Amino acid sequence: MTEKGYKRTLVTTALPYANGPVHIGHLAGVYVPADIYVRYLRLKKREVLFVGGSDEHGVPITIAAKKEGITPQDVVDKFHNLIKKSFEDFGISFDVYSRTTSKIHYETASDFFKKLYEKDCFIEKTSEQYYDEQVKQFLADRYITGTCPHCKNPNAYGDQCEACGTSLSPLDLIEPKSAISGSKPVLKETKHWYLPLENYQNWLEKWILKEHAEWKSNVYGQCKSWLDMGLQPRAVSRDLNWGIPLPIPDAEGKVLYVWFDAPIGYISNTKEIRPNDWELWWKNSETKLVHFIGKDNIVFHCIVFPSMLKADGSYILPDNVPANEFLNLESNKISTSKNWAVWLHEYLADFPEKQDILRYVLTANAPETKDNDFTWKDFQARNNSELVAIYGNFVNRTLVLTQKYFNGIVPERQEFTEYDKEVFAEIENGKLKIENHLENYHFREALKEAMNLARVGNKYLADTEPWKLAQTDMARVGTILNVSLQLCANLSIAFEPFLPFSSAKLRKMLNL
Ligand SMILES: [Zn+2]
Repeated sequence: MTEKGYKRTLVTTALPYANGPVHIGHLAGVYVPADIYVRYLRLKKREVLFVGGSDEHGVPITIAAKKEGITPQDVVDKFHNLIKKSFEDFGISFDVYSRTTSKIHYETASDFFKKLYEKDCFIEKTSEQYYDEQVKQFLADRYITGTCPHCKNPNAYGDQCEACGTSLSPLDLIEPKSAISGSKPVLKETKHWYLPLENYQNWLEKWILKEHAEWKSNVYGQCKSWLDMGLQPRAVSRDLNWGIPLPIPDAEGKVLYVWFDAPIGYISNTKEIRPNDWELWWKNSETKLVHFIGKDNIVFHCIVFPSMLKADGSYILPDNVPANEFLNLESNKISTSKNWAVWLHEYLADFPEKQDILRYVLTANAPETKDNDFTWKDFQARNNSELVAIYGNFVNRTLVLTQKYFNGIVPERQEFTEYDKEVFAEIENGKLKIENHLENYHFREALKEAMNLARVGNKYLADTEPWKLAQTDMARVGTILNVSLQLCANLSIAFEPFLPFSSAKLRKMLNL
């Protein structure tokens, strides 16, 4: 039992979009912090489930497929497998990593929609949208190009002009063209279903602004500004042939909007691994639900998805949404389309088995409260002057001295001195600080405290100088190394959530 009477924790991570591999920005913003949190809970022997998966629907995937002359399923198969492998390689310890094209997800998302539909939670609206008569298909915003009314760029998209950055609606474009056939699209009426978010405005204001003032200030602030602007109805369906078909009559050619089906993936993936007791994880007030996401997803996880869960009425709501800001790369925004990123599979090709160094740097420099910058210079400095010079150095000296003076056997200890006792007090104190930071999603601070414990060890060895005492007082040398080895053992636990590969190695060296 923890605070607020919770008995178990369900941790979800944003579903990466399966139109490209994952990069360091994903890892720093979402997956490493979530993994740290989950590994910590497991060390505390708390009941936890860690759920992830790929988001495989939506227009960009259909565009990628068309460009390469393959099917959308081919696109998502390729990237789902690549993404899944990257997470495994970096020790992101999901209990389940599934996908939104799974059968169980189709059923879960359809049922979710149907229940809300039957409860009359949606409104229907008819509007005019561009239609390509040659291919007989409504055109998503991205499928329409034309001249930007602001800067006259002839290749603006229906949702945005990439030359001047203005957000557009397809109707703004001068001389619109279908990106599929090149023909001039016509306006045609189409019916869609909308979730009237404005109906949840009052409830959300109370639930977030009053009852969750403890959320991170970047999350709370973004929610507040959305609520201050006033919420609008949001379409839950669209005309597309890739996605989950609307499970109602007279909805031919319409699928669930990807934003609607994706978060339901958390529920589907839980069902996949816990078919018999998934409801315990989603419908029991003793379960703490935590969503790890990037800042671009705050509105979905704090406003839209909770409104869907509230509309259903049988689900719990998130206790916290510790969203991070963005990580930049060498002062520029990471961009999949511009190929400006450090891709995880490429990092591992260059630095095999060095996952922990990247996990360390991304946590030490995590964009927890503001955007941060990743640079290779900082990567090198943190590896050399922190991981190697502090943690590695202490462990190495302790093990080398134990080997040299005691043939690698843990020496007997004598009476502890005041200094020895201080080291144990530091361990206890460090443990409390680390735990307190982790409970509050302060991962950088927690890591700093773990590194401070390694500093304590280095100082202890430098002050007690066992290599000098070896000529006069071997019994004292034994006690010093006994204390140092105990500290090493504690460090393997303190660092386990952050550097799981190194901790496993260290435990093996210590024969724990
Ligand atoms: Zn423009």
